[in-house]
Amino acid sequence: MSSTSTERKSGLSADRVKQLIVVIGIAAAADILRNALTGQWSDLAILGLSSIPLCFAWGLVNFGRTELAGQLVLFAVTCMVNAFVWRNAGLQEPAVVAYPTVLMLAGLLFGQRAMLALLALITSFLVALTIADYYGWHSSAAPGTNVASTLSMTGILAVSAAIIWMVKGDFKKLLRNLHRENIRVTQSHERIEFLARHDTLTGLPNRHQASELFLKTMARARRNGGKAGLIYLDLDDFKSANDTLGHTFGDRMLQQIPERMNAALRESDSVCRLGGDEFLILLDALEDSDAAADVATRLLAQFAEPFEINGVDVMTGCSMGIALYPDDGENFETLLRHADTAMHTAKDAGRNSFKLFDASMNREVMEHMRLNSAMRNGLLRNEFSLYFQPQFDLTSGRIVGAETLLRWRHVDLGFISPADFIPIAEKSGLIVPLGEWVLQEACRHAAQWKALGLGDLVVAVNVSPVQIRRGGVEGMVRSALALSGLSATRLELELTESSILHESVEFSRTIAALREMGVGIAIDDFGTGYSNLGYLKKFEIHLLKIDQSFVRRMAMDRNDETIVRAITQMAKGLRLRTLAEGIEDVSTLRLLAKLGCDAGQGYLWARPMPASEFIEFARQHVARPIASQVQNTHSEVAQFV
Ligand code: C2E
Ligand code: MG
Ligand code: MG
Repeated sequence: MSSTSTERKSGLSADRVKQLIVVIGIAAAADILRNALTGQWSDLAILGLSSIPLCFAWGLVNFGRTELAGQLVLFAVTCMVNAFVWRNAGLQEPAVVAYPTVLMLAGLLFGQRAMLALLALITSFLVALTIADYYGWHSSAAPGTNVASTLSMTGILAVSAAIIWMVKGDFKKLLRNLHRENIRVTQSHERIEFLARHDTLTGLPNRHQASELFLKTMARARRNGGKAGLIYLDLDDFKSANDTLGHTFGDRMLQQIPERMNAALRESDSVCRLGGDEFLILLDALEDSDAAADVATRLLAQFAEPFEINGVDVMTGCSMGIALYPDDGENFETLLRHADTAMHTAKDAGRNSFKLFDASMNREVMEHMRLNSAMRNGLLRNEFSLYFQPQFDLTSGRIVGAETLLRWRHVDLGFISPADFIPIAEKSGLIVPLGEWVLQEACRHAAQWKALGLGDLVVAVNVSPVQIRRGGVEGMVRSALALSGLSATRLELELTESSILHESVEFSRTIAALREMGVGIAIDDFGTGYSNLGYLKKFEIHLLKIDQSFVRRMAMDRNDETIVRAITQMAKGLRLRTLAEGIEDVSTLRLLAKLGCDAGQGYLWARPMPASEFIEFARQHVARPIASQVQNTHSEVAQFV
């Protein structure tokens, strides 16, 4: 039996047994000295003989038999006391006070069996002594050992043993409870430790743990003269899957991601979750950037297969940014920022791809930050204004409305194209207050047109996918209409196909509510985005704006003409109106009219213009009688132009 297992059983340590032996040894040595001086040779012999098992017990402790050694000590002490009692004053011998102590030690340290064995040994000895005294076979040095005193002594010892046993039971229970409590505290401590370092959903290390792990990865790279890498991975369109299919579904998907990633990684690489749909991969021992790019390519391949969740197949891509130690930064925070920047560049470049960080990306980020804060100031300094581009009915030639186009005139930089500032405003979320302002102003202008006698011209307002995703568009429209007094039927919202891509229950409800109010819904830049046209049936859309990239070249390019023809025919079948953007010449206009396109806008009639100019423009065209064009669209449109 090993010493540790012995200790576990009795709770007795080797040191404690040795201390016990030393204490008894000292007491015995003192008695030996006293007996030697007083010439009590028989006591001296008892003490001498008792020392033998004590020495033997010491040896047992050294051999790891602690429990056996402890039992031997108690047995030896009991025998020694018995010998003193026999040899000297019987029950009047002072050594009898050691009996309860021996029993107590046996009960507490070794349990019931050892204690009962010793009690039996003591009791049988006392009975034997009493019988021997009674029959005169032995005579104690002091009177008093008779049946009555033996019975009371045995009774006292038995009661002591019973009390010891009961107290021992209480102690054991207390110890068990303490032990259980200790386990519980240890477990909750371990759980808290785990939660502080891991993500609860996937069990992956969290950002805090990632930074600690990467410190070691960087140290290894430093030692070996190699590189370490960080891949910042963000799932494409996870939010729409999460919104559409539910959060439990989204959680299941996130739980499957680590397994997929691990299939593309080496043993030494680790996957961590930063939160939401963002993961971080720590790459150990890289030779160069090509090695990191290889890992990213393998990761992309892992996302080519659909995820099966509750029997449904879901596809998701991912965008990744890679930063390398020491090339792109010397610490975790810098590398994480750079990998994040590279990931956003990959997303902007069309998703489902990866980009290695380079310094120009940082310059771009700085430029974006500069423009973004300039835009915030611009909003306060009234640098934004609205331009309006007239829209015409191709059959009647009448002006039917105008598209609102936002303009920004920066104090130093002059006019900045919406193509440059809108994407930045979308990224920072500034498009939300900006878009709300556009909507309110556009409604206010359109209400004025009616008051100026320009009739029921419709005002079209561009709505960003970010505004759709953030929600609250319905409330924004209601308050803009209420503030301006504009009729809902004179407002048209232009959504891009990417807004529809992010469709959710909330989105469907908003579209239905807006249509219910009478607000028109147009799909802007139609034909450039989403190939799944199911949404045309699903949502109550009333207008398709054919993208100018097809319209501008359709007079020269048969393919573009074919596309525009297909769009107009499909729209007719679905009873949707069509409006062609970017009409710049008469031949295109003729062709569009021939194909049955309903309306158009473009430089042929007018470029976008400030509100005051638009009022003059509309006044001239509203006044112009053009009713005859309805009969012979083809030729009359040409005349009108
Ligand atoms: P869009 O909504 O497709 O607007 C039409 C764009 O085509 C406008 O560019 C307009 O000036 C231009 N355009 C119109 N007719 C012609 C033509 O005959 N030839 C050519 N080459 N171009 C023509 P703009 O004003 O630069 O706006 C660009 C884009 O910026 C808009 O495309 C729209 O997506 C966005 N945008 C503009 N204002 C807003 C706004 O208030 N909110 C949001 N979210 N986006 C806006
Ligand atoms: Mg538009
Ligand atoms: Mg457009």
